[in-house]
Amino acid sequence: MIMEWAERANCIGTDTNGWYSPDQGSKQIPDKGELKRICDRCEVIDQCLEWAVKHETHGFWAGTTPDDRQRMRHTRGLWVDDPMYWDKGRWAKVGRG
Ligand code: SF4
Repeated sequence: MIMEWAERANCIGTDTNGWYSPDQGSKQIPDKGELKRICDRCEVIDQCLEWAVKHETHGFWAGTTPDDRQRMRHTRGLWVDDPMYWDKGRWAKVGRG
């Protein structure tokens, strides 16, 4: 499984509608404060953030909005379509050994 860490996510069982907005704009995510509190107590926040920076343009992930992650990509020189996967405790590029 690519996202094994997701099985330990603190957000499992929460209402996923709150994590996304209809127009996918960060300002429309209704209660970022409560979501951030859930993320702050999550044991896999580091893995989640790495995943989200590399793969997720929508929604609230690891305490970050889409705009937050876009700024992180810019700083790190990443593109969201840079295909990566989580493999045995590390990120690996798709198609490389
Ligand atoms: S950091 Fe937040 S969004 Fe990511 S898995 Fe944990 S609770 Fe869910």
